[in-house]
Amino acid sequence: MAKQDDVFKKLVSHCKEYGFVFRSSDIYDGLGAVYDYGQMGVELKNNIKKYWWDSMVLLHENIVGIDSAIFMHPTIWKASGHVDAFNDPLIDNKDSKKRYRADVLIEDQVGKYEEKINKEIAKAKKRFGDSFDEEQFRATNPRVKANEAKREALHTRYAKALNDSNLEELRQIIIDEGIACPISGTKNWTEVRQFNLMFSTEVGSTAEGASKIYLRPETAQGIFVNYLNVQKTGRMRIPFGIAQIGKAFRNEIVARQFIFRMREFEQMEMQFFVRPGTELEWFKKWKETRLNWHEALGFGNDAYRFHDHEKLAHYANAATDIEFKMPFGFKEVEGIHSRTDFDLSQHEKFSGKNIKYFDPELNESYVPYVIETSIGVDRMFLSIMSSAYTEEDLGDGKSRIVLKLPAALAPVKLAVLPLVKKDGLPEKAREIINDLKFHFNCQYDEKDSVGKRYRRQDAIGTPYCITVDHDTLKDDCVTLRNRDTMEQERVAIANLESLIADRVSITSILKKLNK
Ligand code: ATP
Repeated sequence: MAKQDDVFKKLVSHCKEYGFVFRSSDIYDGLGAVYDYGQMGVELKNNIKKYWWDSMVLLHENIVGIDSAIFMHPTIWKASGHVDAFNDPLIDNKDSKKRYRADVLIEDQVGKYEEKINKEIAKAKKRFGDSFDEEQFRATNPRVKANEAKREALHTRYAKALNDSNLEELRQIIIDEGIACPISGTKNWTEVRQFNLMFSTEVGSTAEGASKIYLRPETAQGIFVNYLNVQKTGRMRIPFGIAQIGKAFRNEIVARQFIFRMREFEQMEMQFFVRPGTELEWFKKWKETRLNWHEALGFGNDAYRFHDHEKLAHYANAATDIEFKMPFGFKEVEGIHSRTDFDLSQHEKFSGKNIKYFDPELNESYVPYVIETSIGVDRMFLSIMSSAYTEEDLGDGKSRIVLKLPAALAPVKLAVLPLVKKDGLPEKAREIINDLKFHFNCQYDEKDSVGKRYRRQDAIGTPYCITVDHDTLKDDCVTLRNRDTMEQERVAIANLESLIADRVSITSILKKLNK
């Protein structure tokens, strides 16, 4: 664990050092769980958003996008259930005065049993080598069996407490499991209380005339209240989807782990409207489609897993998370929910407007069912950065830090480096950039040795560097250096654009999805 914490710390400081992520209000010592994206971060973030948007809106004829306002009519949040039920169970440690989410403390405890089991298995694997039979070992090893039983019992008890919203029982589980505060080390806990996560503010100028409104905690409701506008003006027929990217706000109790859990963050959500009765089929299809989207980035399929929900939200009849192997364990990056007709029916009830869809094929009207895919841009950013961050030993006591970002997502695609700062090489390099800057984000760098310049580009994940040398002036060729293999090839300047475009465009990943 210590090693993983170490990697995570290095990643956080790398993000700051190279202009990816800064603390918000840094010169005022930051603001809890709020972050700013720097000059590199914003490029990576924009590329992630483009990859998502294009995979939804370009690849699906029946999906269109919108951009709805952050402020919405306050009754929307009453209808959606957020005013009454968008709560987290919180608990305080009386000695450290630190606040925790009771559910997270218990889930971490479940994770600890899992860790113990995995350790036993890893040890045995090492001991028995090729002849190791994991299934048999799990079924017979007394320590593994004991930990599995404990994990199962805890899981069942916890799921029941959550389903019953039984706060006393949640506290009792924490006591019975002997869970201690990581800061004070004591088990001196308060009661568990519910805490609403929505931020509110006021619109209107006078105190009397002002009314309370909320900063949206999800972008989805902006889609629901616009679904008929889009359906009618876009002449959409079911099944169809509406996609949106935008900011969301949650007053998270426990805001640690960098950009994993923020109070202001960005979501990419798509609501897919289907005929009632077909929703579980579509749920299955979207699970597959979304997993493929993640896997196409090439971080290895074992970096992802599904976590199907046992406790379903009040609006869902099926739900799963796509979890990613972060430096601090498998964590949710995306949620996929079958939201039934809950949201639309609620808006019909609270607004008093008929928002049924007329299905010309069935010749009947109904409230559509909805499949939602909802992914956090910032969590996606963190998962990509943590997989890409690599410390590489180059032999002879040399090493480098390289961000092995998928080329299509890299902030800078190409660096142009004149070998020396004289003899007309800078001018030639500028000429090349002036051509290529219309196609790719390029950087020009002439300072320090070429080796140092390569390292700087490795650290921000630039997939290609080209070096302009004296021969370039004679043969119009440059040296193209690959970030990951560090191999170099001689390429004609005239071929650069098409050669690089092929390797760094988002289109190349989208084509993989479209098969
Ligand atoms: P968690 O259980 O981690 O609080 P959630 O289940 O409440 O997350 P959803 O409501 O399903 O999250 O939101 C969809 C996606 O939005 C999540 O998968 C995540 O990527 C992102 N997200 C949610 N809350 C935050 C946050 N506080 N900071 C950053 N991203 C978030």
